[in-house]
Amino acid sequence: MEKLKLTCGACKNACQLIVEYEDDEVWDVTGNNCMKGMIFAQGEVTKNCLSEEKISNNK
Ligand code: SF4
Repeated sequence: MEKLKLTCGACKNACQLIVEYEDDEVWDVTGNNCMKGMIFAQGEVTKNCLSEEKISNNK
């Protein structure tokens, strides 16, 4: 299980999110004031996972 600190960019509140995830799947998000924070976190984790894969494919 990995942990990531993110600033939610889905609205001007900029909640500080703590995201627990494994591979490209989010298990838990704290610090979000609404469900959009959860969706934002899932998007960032998926993006992160894809770019890591891209980097490893280029090696
Ligand atoms: S979690 Fe909700 S309230 Fe917080 S920044 Fe994201 S969209 Fe805004």
